Amino acid sequence: MRLCLAIFAAAALLAQPPQPAAKKAARELAGDDIRGYSDTPQLPGQKWKVHDMERPRPPKVAPGPYAAITPPADAIILFDGKDLSQWEQFARGGVVSGPKWKVENGYIEIVPKTGRLRTKQSFGDCQLHIEWQVPLEAKGDGQSIGNSGVEFMGRYEIQVLESANHLTYADGGAGAIYGVWPPLVNPARPQGEWNVYDIFFEAPVFEGEKLVKPAYITVLFNGVLVQHHKDFLGTTIWRRIGTYTPHPPELPLTLQDHSQAVRFRNIWIRRLGGQ
Ligand code: MG
Repeated sequence: MRLCLAIFAAAALLAQPPQPAAKKAARELAGDDIRGYSDTPQLPGQKWKVHDMERPRPPKVAPGPYAAITPPADAIILFDGKDLSQWEQFARGGVVSGPKWKVENGYIEIVPKTGRLRTKQSFGDCQLHIEWQVPLEAKGDGQSIGNSGVEFMGRYEIQVLESANHLTYADGGAGAIYGVWPPLVNPARPQGEWNVYDIFFEAPVFEGEKLVKPAYITVLFNGVLVQHHKDFLGTTIWRRIGTYTPHPPELPLTLQDHSQAVRFRNIWIRRLGGQ
């Protein structure tokens, strides 16, 4: 009888469809976070699929030495090394609470699984300066080492990832418009060193429910142009093609919690007016 029950229980377990977490773990075991995918949708206007395993990775370019860029007079200082007074935590379920990420030694460090950090102020078109570092102690591979992201309007992501010594699919490395456009080249500095993004973002424009202009972005990565006025297809999403959902012209900037430690410092932003 006991044996029958055990067999029945095992059969019931086997009959269950794989759970999302198990599926993701299986993909990671298969190395897809490194190699990429072949079962993803075709990117419109490109010859590649989302996270395409055939897409060439961007060539490496050694950046020049780090040079501090200090904010101009009209910049809004989002983090000056001292406190998170410009930020709030955006946890699961949309609950906003006091920031949980650590501030030490002049930088912010992600406390994994505490949720995104988001600015109290909202922004549309803007220029952003932000520096990031993957700690020396971080371990992992593919999408699982130093994964975070700079998410304009909380939804349009420029990827943050250890990309100097770890491989992933072309549209998933540091400086990528995640899932859409790889960086033109890969000028990433390794773990323990500071990387610098200077980003120029144009918010999408909606008329009612209709998108009349997509979001565009230009990115300097360690002083090297890696995105030159490239478009977002919609909200950033894994393994799928993002779509636009109408939203206000200004929204908070968020930093992604991808359950991995990444540090940030020297964050400032300028609102861009019309001409
Ligand atoms: Mg990310």
